[in-house]
Parts: sequence; structure tokens; C-alpha cells
Amino acid sequence: TLLSRQFSSSSRTMAPISKETDFLVIGGGSGGLGAARMASGKFGAKAMIVESSRLGGTCVNVGCVPKKVTFYAAAIAEAIHESKPYGFSIQETAPFDWTSFKEKRDAYVKRLNGIYERNLANDKIEYVHGRAKLLSRNEVEITLDDGTKTTVRANRIVLAVGGRPASFPSIPGADYGVNSDGFFDIATLPKKVALVGAGYIAVEFAGMFNALGIETHLFIRHKTFLRHFDPMIQDGVTAEYERLGVHLHKASTQTRVDKDSTTGKLTIHYKDGNGEGQLSDVDHLIWAVGRVPETDHLGLENAGVKINEKGHVVVDNFQNTSVDNIFALGDVCGKAELTPVAIAAGRRLAERLYGPPALFANAHLDYSNIPSVVFSHPEVGSIGLTEPEAVEKYGRENLKIYTTNFTAMYYAMMDPADKGPTKYKVICTGPEEKVVGLHIMGLGSGEMLQGFGVAIKMGATKKDLDSCVAIHPTSAEELVTLR
Ligand code: FAD
Ligand code: NDP
Repeated sequence: TLLSRQFSSSSRTMAPISKETDFLVIGGGSGGLGAARMASGKFGAKAMIVESSRLGGTCVNVGCVPKKVTFYAAAIAEAIHESKPYGFSIQETAPFDWTSFKEKRDAYVKRLNGIYERNLANDKIEYVHGRAKLLSRNEVEITLDDGTKTTVRANRIVLAVGGRPASFPSIPGADYGVNSDGFFDIATLPKKVALVGAGYIAVEFAGMFNALGIETHLFIRHKTFLRHFDPMIQDGVTAEYERLGVHLHKASTQTRVDKDSTTGKLTIHYKDGNGEGQLSDVDHLIWAVGRVPETDHLGLENAGVKINEKGHVVVDNFQNTSVDNIFALGDVCGKAELTPVAIAAGRRLAERLYGPPALFANAHLDYSNIPSVVFSHPEVGSIGLTEPEAVEKYGRENLKIYTTNFTAMYYAMMDPADKGPTKYKVICTGPEEKVVGLHIMGLGSGEMLQGFGVAIKMGATKKDLDSCVAIHPTSAEELVTLR
């Protein structure tokens, strides 16, 4: 019977499917795992998690993790280049071995998949591999890998289904390109790549390709990228990419993509400020034009779960959806689409639902002042309001903005043309100069932001920053000595 059905694949938990559970989590990504593990592992709830693809979700399989490993490879390529002015004579006798790097990266991700699966077993969470669909507010149909269907009843259901890359623009030949998932499938070192998009993903991928010595073309619709970031960051990183040799096609649109049937190489036809153009001999075209929630075929209408005009599930501050026993968190809600946000929202929800009420009755994630980093070249860190947002919220007359622009000591040994910029901005408001925005670009920004994030979350003022003795010689010390 379905109740006692065992999975044949050895890579899956050999647990029978029960027909009832208390806490049914749909999606085994960052947020779903966070919620299920806290509910079952810490508070002993009877929990089940359903995952249709690979455990760990976007972040582990086609996001943060393999991206950051590739970023490290790119950083090493930069360090090799930068070692020369420091007196090293490293001769690169062969190009970067992308193929074996990719194989090792894949193996690392696979190891993580296994660790996640063992964690589920340790926390006594029933793991079902299949595709879930709501039948009603308490019933979920799961289509198993072999096509059979089973129905599970649950008291509480969490939608943690994440998102997927947005569709390509509908131009002829667009499908010759790939989305961000396809980036991680590239098996050999490309010579020439093109990316379309202006957000985190396009900018991170373009920076990595370029640092690894690959001819990189980035097509953007406007004059700058990262347009949701503070203007200092937008302008600073866009200019830096141009200096580093990324071919930026500004104010561009693509009209057609052709594929040479013999070589497999692509030609991208486009228009930009200079008229029409074409880019030939492209090994890979990557569309990175945003992400959409994975809510198709989820049966939301069967349970009455409301979505907004972009398809994101509508939730309140407590991750409650419009149906009182159904919750949603992570990318599917479309707010701060970051792994730690999904995890924290999942954990807070599980605490609220299953933890001692005296401690957790009100548990929820505070979405204000979430720090985030773009692993661009150089790295960017940002928390709080951008300058335009702060002006709108507080009025220019109520702001005091501190900026600095300098060359990090790391570049001291290098030729002027090889020196990268460092730019910091701290936005303060009111007589006490409370910090409401902090934006940094330069070496080490990714690691630097976390600590400043704690301070800002605690309500730091400019005086608090200044009262912390500088650590010398660092770049970060500039943030506690701003004048
Ligand atoms: P996901 O991790 O996407 O998990 C959802 C899971 O649900 C998936 O495994 C999916 O297969 C499963 N699923 C969907 N529908 C069903 C269904 N009907 N039945 C069963 N299972 C289903 N964030 C950062 O913080 N730092 C970074 O450096 C970073 N880099 C990124 C780089 C890239 C290229 C991308 C694409 C994203 C990156 N992100 C990064 C964002 C981060 O990956 C997401 O914010 C995070 O994974 C969201 O977690 P989630 O649990 O909401 O969804
Ligand atoms: P984003 O939403 O960040 O950026 C997509 C951008 O692409 C748009 O803002 C738009 O910018 C541009 N765009 C849209 N359509 C087109 C088009 N037809 N042609 C050209 N450009 C277009 O999406 P991403 O896919 O980059 O990333 C999704 C999310 O994943 C991020 O928002 C982030 O939350 C998360 N992420 C986090 C990372 C991290 O923490 N380091 C890394 C990667 C992803 P414009 O309007 O300027 O044209």
C-alpha cells in the first residue's frame, strides 16, 4: 500500500509515506529545511518535507554555494595576476582547468546534498521525494518519482517552494541561451560569453568570467547596473567593470540570436545607443533577467491561498498566508530573496508554532536592515536605506552623509592602472546621527559587512562607530574614522 511504500533509490530515505503529518513543508531548500529542522529536531513536531529536485534548493545546487566556490577561483586568478607587482614570477603554463574545477565543485555540492539528507534523518523528519500540490487547505497530493500519486493530510502546511529564473525575452533564438542554472552546467573553459541582465546574478557571473580571463560581454538596458543599490555603488561598480575589461553594452536590447550549426557558436544581434550591432563567436549566452516564484501547478487556488500581481504568495509579518493553517516563506514571498532570510523566517515560524509560547508566541523575522553582499569585482555590501531612499523618508535636511574614497593598501605595490577603488558611504539621520544606511565597495566588503550589520541592527549612531577604536591597517578602519 502507499502507506508502507518504500523508495527504491538508495539515495533517498527509506521511510514509508505516512498519510498524516502535523507539519508538512513543501520545498527542501533553505527556508523549508530551516523550518522543518527547527520544528522536528528542536521541538519534536511530526514533520514531513517534500522536495521535487535536489535537497538544499537553489542556494546549495544552483546558487550561493557553487557561485561562491567559482568566485574563489576567480579571486585566485586575480591574486595570481596581482602577485607580479609584489615580486612573484608565477608563470601560468596552462589555462584555468575549468573542467576539473567544475567536477570538483559538483562533487562538493553532491556531498552537501548527502549531508542535508542525513540531517533530516537525524532530526526525524520524513523526507519524500516528489512534487507536491495542494488539494485543499489540509491535503497535499504528492506525485512520486515513478509517477504514482499519494495524498497526505497535514494540520499545518508551509510553502517554501522558492523561485526559478524568469523566462527569456521572446526574441528569435533566445532559447540558444541558458539561464543561471545553465551557468553551473558549463563543462569546458569558454572563450567568449555574453550575459543579459543587471542584477546580482548577471553582475556576479560577468565578474567571475572576466577575472578568469574569458572575453565577457554584459548587455544592460540602462547606463548602469545594480540599479537597486545606492548610486555610489551603481556608478562605482559599473565604471570598475569597464576598467577591468568587461565589454558593457549599455542601453541595449537584443533582437535575435543565431546558432552556427557546425561550431555551435552564437551570434547575438542587438541594438544600443550606437545603432545595430552583432556579437559573434559566443560560446554561451546567459539570461539573468530576474526570478519568478515557483507557484505554477501548486494548487494554491484549491486552498484559497492569495498571491499578488507578480505571483508571490501574500504573507503578513508572521509568514501567515490568507489561509490560517498555511504559511509561506523564502523566495516564494518575493521579499529579500536571500538564503539567510529564508532560513531565519523558517526557524522563527517553527519556533512560533512549536516552541514554548512563553518564549516564542511572537517569534517572527524582522525584515528591516537586512545586510546583503554582491560578490562582484570588487565586492559590494549594503544595509539599510540608499541615499535616494533616505532622502525620501527623512528629507535631505535631516541627513548627514559621510563618504570616503581611497585606494586600499593592498594596491600599494601596483601600477596606478591596476589599482581598484574603495568607496564607503554612511547615511545618518537626526541629531543623534543614527545610521540608517551603510554602503561599501572594495576588497573584503563581503566579510566586513556582517559586523557593521550587527551594530546597525542594534541602532548604532555615528558616535558609536567613532567610539570603536580602529583596527590598523585595514580598509574597515575608515568606517570608524569618517569625517
Ligand atoms: P529554494 O532554495 O529555491 O528552495 C525551494 C525548493 O522547493 C527547491 O529545492 C524546489 O525544487 C522545491 N520545490 C518547488 N516546488 C515544489 C513542489 N511543488 N513540490 C516539491 N518541491 C518543490 N542568496 C544569498 O543569500 N547569497 C548568495 O550569494 C546567493 N547567490 C545566489 C546565486 C544564484 C545564481 C541564485 C539563483 C540565487 C542566489 N541566492 C543567494 C538566493 C538564494 O539562493 C535564495 O534566496 C534561496 O535559495 C531561497 O530559499 P527558498 O527556501 O525560499 O527556496
Ligand atoms: P534581479 O532581480 O536582482 O535583477 C534582474 C535585473 O535584470 C532587473 O532588475 C533588470 O534590471 C534586469 N532585466 C530585467 N529584464 C531584462 C531584460 N529583458 N534585458 C536586460 N535586463 C533585464 O535578479 P537576479 O536574477 O540577478 O537575482 C535574483 C535574486 O537572487 C536577487 O534579487 C537576489 O535577491 C538573489 N541573489 C542574491 C545574491 C547574493 O546575495 N549575492 C546573488 C544572486 C542572486 P534593469 O531594470 O536595471 O534593467
